[in-house]
Amino acid sequence: MPLVVQKFGGTSVGSPERIQAVARRVARARKRGDDLVVVVSAMGHTTDELTELAARVTGLERAGSEHPREMDMLLTAGERIAAALLTMAIRQEGAEACSFTGSQAAIITDEQHTAARIREIRGGRVREALDEGMVAIVAGFQGVSGEREITTLGRGGSDTTAVALAAALQADRCEIFTDVPGVFTADPRRVPGARVIREISHAEMLEMASAGAQVMHARAVDIAARFGVDIRVLSSFSDDDTPSGTLITAMPRAMEDLVLTGLASSAGQAKLVLRGLPAGMASSTELLGALADGGVSVDMVSEADEGGGRMQVQLTVAGDALERARAVAGEVAARLGSGTVEVQGGLTRITLVGSGMTGRPGVYARAYRTLHAAGVEVHGASTSSISISLLVPAEREDDALRALHDAFALEMAGEHTTVAER
Ligand code: ASP
Ligand code: MG
Repeated sequence: MPLVVQKFGGTSVGSPERIQAVARRVARARKRGDDLVVVVSAMGHTTDELTELAARVTGLERAGSEHPREMDMLLTAGERIAAALLTMAIRQEGAEACSFTGSQAAIITDEQHTAARIREIRGGRVREALDEGMVAIVAGFQGVSGEREITTLGRGGSDTTAVALAAALQADRCEIFTDVPGVFTADPRRVPGARVIREISHAEMLEMASAGAQVMHARAVDIAARFGVDIRVLSSFSDDDTPSGTLITAMPRAMEDLVLTGLASSAGQAKLVLRGLPAGMASSTELLGALADGGVSVDMVSEADEGGGRMQVQLTVAGDALERARAVAGEVAARLGSGTVEVQGGLTRITLVGSGMTGRPGVYARAYRTLHAAGVEVHGASTSSISISLLVPAEREDDALRALHDAFALEMAGEHTTVAER
């Protein structure tokens, strides 16, 4: 019997009717003979609502920083409700099922409340339930620490629960059901020509998720890559039991021939430019150290020699860290005895992702040529081996995405056939 881990997100179990629809799908799969472990998120906006309740009774915007243990006790209830309701609905469909909290499933985490990491999955009771022919329903996004405290894995953590369970149980398949038909080449609300990507590598998906693609939790993709778990992302809103969706796998078939696989973007970025600093590593080292000590996470960094013993450093940070970054940068410039600080907010980082760009000349050139032709100014750039990130004015985000999607023939990433560079 193939062992399948299925995960259903909050929208997929957002109402009694949606829960019944999921129950029918699970019961059908069970009847076909699959052994099933089903991970659920909390219904709809439950997690947000519980967070809001905590804010109201404490008068604190972030009740979790003051009361992390109780926050975990509170939030795990959301997934527990969904798990119990789904189990009842599945049993009504005539399949045997039993629900488990993360703790009952022996998902062992570290001690870090509200952002725990999974250490090991023993899965004892889940295995027993499977042996007895039951569907095991597991409440997502939670576990238990070595100190027997209830913990959560951080927002969006149910994907991580599902992939970690698939790895631990050596499942044959891991299916993530969501409210969209798969991972798109770009956000379809911004780019009308966007298509569902048929196959994408773990590394590319990790870049996409980290660069702002919403569909999968980056940590889940990281675990999938490390343990070799293939993931299929599909819509729970289609009644078709064999929809294709997106396969996230080690080495997709079309990979070598496509330059790019997808575009992702992340708004709310800001840039700082420090000019006239004393030239040399000491300046940038001091600046980066001071930012790190101030808790500011830096995204892109570039340096340029200004001549006459002076240099400039450009860096980008998340928009909400801009004020702190500006203050820290100002202090550093003063300490170094020279330098001015300029800031610019309202930027969006667009990331072009594709294993096909490795070692291929001209990708930067094509991106710049495209944006120049579209009249979109680039305020910063950085690369990894399989991605290029460009900072553009927030109000030009859609234009930039559409132009790049077109220039790199990204609609082809949605096809099975391979294409050569245009
Ligand atoms: N319910 C949690 C959240 O909304 C976990 C999840 O949905 O994955 O963040
Ligand atoms: Mg949720």
